[in-house]
Amino acid sequence: MRPRALLYRARSWLHRRDVTVWYDPRYRLPLSSLESSAGMEPRRADYAVWWLRESRAVPAAGFRNPRRVSFEDLARVHSHELLESLAHPQALAQVFAVDPSDVPVDEVMTTVRLACGGTLAAARESLRTRAPALNLLGGFHHAGPGSAGGYCPVNDVAVAVAALRAEGFTGRVAVLDLDAHPPDGIAACLAGYRAAWIGSLSGSDWGPVPGADETVLPEGTGDPGYLEALGALLSRMPRPALAFVLAGGDVLAGDRAGRLALTLGGARERDLVVAMELEGVPSVWLPGGGYSRMAWRALAGTGMAVAAGSLEPIPERYDPLSARFAVVSREMSPRDLSDSGELTAEDLEEALGMRPRHQRLLLGFYTASGLEHALFRYGIFEQLERMGYRQFRVAFDTAGLGERVRLYGEADAREHLLVELVLERRRIAGAEVLYVHWLSLRNPRARFSLRRPQLPGQDVPGLGLAREAGSMLRRMAVRLGLAGVVIRPAHYHMAYAARHEFAFIDPRRQGRFEALVRDLSGLSLLESTLAMAEGCVRLGGEPYAWEADEMAHWLRAEGARAAAVDEERERTRFTVARRT
Ligand SMILES: [Zn+2]
Repeated sequence: MRPRALLYRARSWLHRRDVTVWYDPRYRLPLSSLESSAGMEPRRADYAVWWLRESRAVPAAGFRNPRRVSFEDLARVHSHELLESLAHPQALAQVFAVDPSDVPVDEVMTTVRLACGGTLAAARESLRTRAPALNLLGGFHHAGPGSAGGYCPVNDVAVAVAALRAEGFTGRVAVLDLDAHPPDGIAACLAGYRAAWIGSLSGSDWGPVPGADETVLPEGTGDPGYLEALGALLSRMPRPALAFVLAGGDVLAGDRAGRLALTLGGARERDLVVAMELEGVPSVWLPGGGYSRMAWRALAGTGMAVAAGSLEPIPERYDPLSARFAVVSREMSPRDLSDSGELTAEDLEEALGMRPRHQRLLLGFYTASGLEHALFRYGIFEQLERMGYRQFRVAFDTAGLGERVRLYGEADAREHLLVELVLERRRIAGAEVLYVHWLSLRNPRARFSLRRPQLPGQDVPGLGLAREAGSMLRRMAVRLGLAGVVIRPAHYHMAYAARHEFAFIDPRRQGRFEALVRDLSGLSLLESTLAMAEGCVRLGGEPYAWEADEMAHWLRAEGARAAAVDEERERTRFTVARRT
């Protein structure tokens, strides 16, 4: 660590008890297709807050819940026409690039208004304590006074500045926009405010941004070039009375929308350099964009840099959802999930032949109400409620292949099937596993569209909860003392979605799959899926048909097999023929 960083770390230790982090579980946008369509991690704020709590980078007393910003606050910046339009699913669908059928207006606006409330409250707190404040959602820099777009329905930074000015604040404001895209909306909103300075580093040239000191960096700039440009930008920044820092997560290599190609270490160093420069200046830190699986690590890293002056990386293997679900699972006793052993009236009636016998326990352990309890505790019902469903009900029966679980929920005055799962205990590769024959996550209120085309195996769009389902299945396997979870993806896109948690049991099959992912990496998931379905993917010149086979997530360490996977991957080459 460099001496300046050490010094900052020592000083930050003194004031870190004053750092505040603003967060609400409703920061997760209730848009079921966001993850698949934009590559966004809708759980980014959750992951970051879990990590900051667990690692104790931020003391427990530092966390705050925001309140929704008022329409009076929003109207200081935005036109009535814009605010009125946001009451309609079509306008919000346009902003978030999803289908209108996927937009629960009130819940989406709750998320947006909470984020704006967080930015404003963080600014007030930081002005009071002179310590940095981090809001885990915000930096909606593309929204102008009368226009929304690019995932930005309103402009939280401009709304906060306007509210502070209305309260009598007259100091100089600096906006340091380190998102990978230009601050067009912020510049438009603050155009009339002479005491505002806007500095920006972008990786995309959208033409001139009047009122901003903007540097457009070339594609693939990387850490050294970026940090050099940052130093130059900071040397031109006048000392402000209040700073907003958009610590964009889309600067990372592999981001779908940003092209700057920073490493996680480079992004952390960016934050530390800025934190040192702003020492003693009230500052509000915001996540801005981020369109990769890594974006939450950049945001948690911002918290580590600001609160603890830390450059320490987050362990690569740490999976926030698994860690969180493991904690929740440990808090639930078997009695919460299984039969209490007490005889009910239904048991008696069944025993006396007065009603037909029905399946009471799933996998010999879970009651239906126990499973409902688990779904509640893991936060699944909250997500489903935000998508418009109510009155959840779990039912068991037997299907041809195993035991079937169905989750129903009500919406629009009728009951819908939301989840269908068929599973059994089975011996695979010498171990007893939780074998999943079928898993379907259904959002029947949403419709297929050009933005969200139907994928093979889908009859309605998905719920966007596949990661939660996977983590719950792993917790079930742990609870039942099984060796792991095994699935058998019937289509390429299903295996692709599961690839970070599951691997094909057969190492050669895994090697071929990795070769396929590598060779299709130039296509979007949808293009890849269609190319597979239409026989355009070739292996040795012949159309390649999907080889459905078993993928496992083992709970115990596996034997060595990397060499066999590597060998098959390196000798296999797929090509894609032009689709007609
Ligand atoms: Zn961006």
